Amino acid sequence: MKNSDTFQRFLFEDMGIRGELVRLDASWQAVLQRHTYPLNVSRQLGQALAAVTLLSGTIKFKGALIIQTQSRGPLHTLVVQATHRQTIRGLAHWRDPVPEGNLSEVFGEGRLVLTIQKEGEESYQGVVSLEGQCLAAALEGYFAHSEQLATRLWLFADGQRAAGLFLQALPTQTPTEEDWMRLVTLADTVTEHEMLHLPFEDLLYRLYHEEKVRLFEAEPVVFRCSCSRQRIEDTLLALGKADVEDILAEKGCVEVDCDFCNKRYQFDLVDIGVLFSEEIKSPPSSTKH
Ligand SMILES: [Zn+2]
Repeated sequence: MKNSDTFQRFLFEDMGIRGELVRLDASWQAVLQRHTYPLNVSRQLGQALAAVTLLSGTIKFKGALIIQTQSRGPLHTLVVQATHRQTIRGLAHWRDPVPEGNLSEVFGEGRLVLTIQKEGEESYQGVVSLEGQCLAAALEGYFAHSEQLATRLWLFADGQRAAGLFLQALPTQTPTEEDWMRLVTLADTVTEHEMLHLPFEDLLYRLYHEEKVRLFEAEPVVFRCSCSRQRIEDTLLALGKADVEDILAEKGCVEVDCDFCNKRYQFDLVDIGVLFSEEIKSPPSSTKH
C-alpha cells in the first residue's frame, strides 16, 4: 500500500528549514505482535519508534541510533533503535497500572539517553531529563541543549500505526524567526488522524500549500532485529562460566529469548563447553591470575 512504512524528507529551500515525515504500519505491527502492551505503553513506544526513525534521518552515517529511557516509574524501560538502512526495532517494560499523563507520571523521574553507534567508531551518548508533556517535548529539549538547532517534533501512535513530523533549522542557513514560527504554527494544526492516515503529499499540501516545499523520494522502513547467536554468546561469556553452568545444571540447556523479536537461542551442554573452551584458547588478558 502506498505511504505505508515510509520515511520522507522535505525542504523549504528558501527558508533554511528541513522536514521529515515517517509513518510506520507493518513495521509497527511487527513490534506489537511480539508483546502485548497496554494502550498507554504502546502509544509511548510507537511515538518513540517514529522519533528514532526521524532522528536517524538527520545524521548521515552507517550504524544505528538508539533512544532509551531510564526511570523507575510505571513505564520503566523503553528502547528503540533505527539503523541507516531504515530498519527499526523496539520494546518496553512496565509495571501495571500505567497512567495517562505527562512523562514524569508515565515514566517516573528519569532520563532519556540518545546513543549514536557509528560502525567502527566509539558510541556517542547524549542525555536529557525525561520531562515534559510527551516524548516529543523531551527530545526537543535534547536538541535545544546539545545541537542548538531549532527543532520541533510531532509524534502519534495508535494500535495500527505510528507517525511523526519533524522540522529543523538547517545548520548552514539560519531561518528567520517569522518563517520558523509560521511553519511551526501550521504544523501544530496537524491532527492524529491526518498524521496516521493522510498520504504525505496531501498532508504537506494541507499544511503548507502556500509555501515553496520540495519533497524528496520516499524511503521504505522495515522491522528487523539485529540479534544473532554470536551476540547471545558474547552475553553468556560476559555472564561467566559459573553462572552459565548453574543454568545448565538446573534446566539441562541454556535458552535465551531475544526481547526484541522473540527469537529463541538454545545452547546445550556441548555448545556451552565449546563456547567456554574457546575463551580459554584466546590469549590471556592482563587481569587474569
Ligand atoms: Zn532479536
